[in-house]
Amino acid sequence: MAIPVVAIVGRPNVGKSTIFNRIARQRISIIEDTPGVTRDRIYTHSTWLNHDFSLIDTGGIDFTDQPFIDQIRNQAEIAIDEANVIIFMVSAREGITDTDERIAQILYRAKKDVILAVNKADNPEQRQDIYDFYTLGLGDPIPVSGSQGTGLGDLLDAVVAKFPVTTEDEVDDTIKFSLIGRPNVGKSSLVNSILGEQRVIVSTIEGTTRDAIDTQFTDETGQKFTMIDTAGIRKRGKVYESTEKYAVMRAQSAIDRSDVVLFVIDGESGLREQDKKVAGYAHEAGRAIVIVVNKWDLVKKDTSTMQKFTEKLRGELQYLDYAPIVFVSAITKQRLNQLPELIKTVSVNQQRRIQSSVLNDVLLRAVAITPTPTVKGKRLRVYYLTQVAVKPPTFVAFVNDPEIFHFSYQRFLINQLRASFDFSGTPIHLIARQRK
Ligand code: GDP
Ligand code: GDP
Repeated sequence: MAIPVVAIVGRPNVGKSTIFNRIARQRISIIEDTPGVTRDRIYTHSTWLNHDFSLIDTGGIDFTDQPFIDQIRNQAEIAIDEANVIIFMVSAREGITDTDERIAQILYRAKKDVILAVNKADNPEQRQDIYDFYTLGLGDPIPVSGSQGTGLGDLLDAVVAKFPVTTEDEVDDTIKFSLIGRPNVGKSSLVNSILGEQRVIVSTIEGTTRDAIDTQFTDETGQKFTMIDTAGIRKRGKVYESTEKYAVMRAQSAIDRSDVVLFVIDGESGLREQDKKVAGYAHEAGRAIVIVVNKWDLVKKDTSTMQKFTEKLRGELQYLDYAPIVFVSAITKQRLNQLPELIKTVSVNQQRRIQSSVLNDVLLRAVAITPTPTVKGKRLRVYYLTQVAVKPPTFVAFVNDPEIFHFSYQRFLINQLRASFDFSGTPIHLIARQRK
């Protein structure tokens, strides 16, 4: 089941990114400090009352070389194309402006659910004073305040009420994967070559509300795969497709729908900033990851080329130290036959469960090798480890004081887990809980 997509639209300065950030903040961010990863984020995964959804701040996709009204129109179009539910945001301070009316015009024509949010309703009088907004013809205005944080519950209630009713999860024996990477790294070529190697292409299935098309196939062992349609593969000829932010957002949305991400890099030109952003998102979202270095046929090689490339890559993507790297060519098909096997392996690892008794043996040994640190006179104690989830494997550590359970010791414990069990290709999440 694809998760619903919610987009916020509205003219500049009504408070879209303020509200976006308030909703996004509930999420744990593991690599918040990695430069370029979470800064100016316009896409996030969120949850309200057991409803998972993705949220897009269309205001963050700028078209600086275009006239103002075209920018607004493009943003509204993205919302209409991508989202199941649109939050149209206006401001109680300024009232209805011409631009608000233009946006409303565009939204009428779309057959999409629109929720009208009136931001900057900071006090009770302003919250009472929102009736003017009925004239926009988009239903009940919901007063919110990004600066006070009020009204968000009512807003999200109205949003999730519009989500399609989900039936219980279908039993899922297919591994969903996507190919993510910059334009021109060779994603489409890889898709074609991978599908060319497989005997049966079962079907193409409808993705989400968008015109994404996913492809299913089965390998010779009978394992089913679903290849998620990715940005850059099927182009729809829209103006906004060429903007980098849009490409990143589409990639993030494909990552959200995948179990496994093939992170494709051009072997000739190497890693770029945009690559890191997208890889960071996949890591944070807990997806299993295989790094695919494509166009290896174009690289002049001697005996140490592969090793040198690997070392450089590991240095640039330190948090992805668990992801296997494979050097391929979509053109010569070198090593492409390894991909299905690798996808299966990392998918199994991503769903691996370890019994508590075994985990605690590992913990005892770990603490014996490297005793817990003493921070400001207080000794950290890690009493117990237990696995609470898979996809990705998620462990809770019961400690005497989460404040002194620093990143370095967490990282040490995660490395001990990796040394004891096969978690290659999957991130591991570790959560600290206080035990009194
Ligand atoms: P965007 O351009 O629509 O993304 O708007 P921003 O989120 O950047 O906000 C524009 C300005 O409005 C900023 O100065 C915010 O601090 C301010 N702002 C956002 N929400 C509120 C609110 O609820 N009340 C008030 N008074 N100001 C707000
Ligand atoms: P996408 O934008 O990531 O989907 O990239 P494409 O699949 O469209 O490939 C971009 C260009 O790189 C095309 O000209 C491809 O023929 C070429 N290309 C893709 N993979 C390889 C490869 O493994 N080796 C070589 N030599 N060229 C490749």
